[in-house]
Amino acid sequence: MSDLRELYQEVILDHSRKPRNFRKIEDADRMSVGYNPLCGDRLTLFLDLEDGVVKDASFQGVGCAISTASASMMTEAVKGKRVEDAEKLFEQFHEMVTASPDEEIDASGLGKLQVFGGVREFPARVKCASLAWHTVHAALHGQEETSTE
Ligand code: ZN
Repeated sequence: MSDLRELYQEVILDHSRKPRNFRKIEDADRMSVGYNPLCGDRLTLFLDLEDGVVKDASFQGVGCAISTASASMMTEAVKGKRVEDAEKLFEQFHEMVTASPDEEIDASGLGKLQVFGGVREFPARVKCASLAWHTVHAALHGQEETSTE
């Protein structure tokens, strides 16, 4: 179990140091700003949609390692997905990070996003991990800003 934990930490560190899709999409179809006042994480998310599919996803902003890694992996996860499947991922991710630590959950549909399952044990970090997901959820609903509060 501790090996797995280390691996998970490595994945999160890698994405926080070298965030993927860290750029702006010019003429994005959707743009949404997410803010987590508890930690100060702030990001702007860009989406390109075509025929109900997320063609491209990117973000910019400043935040802690967990929020940056989560945004990096979120953009990778939703890219190429149908909008309803991206929403499903949001729901599964949200369930995983807000379940109580001793609750049995099935997060297998989340693939490598399961690395964030550990934040359940650290309530203060749950919002860091879920900020990018709240922001993509807002963007898909045409909202231009969201806050974890
Ligand atoms: Zn944070």
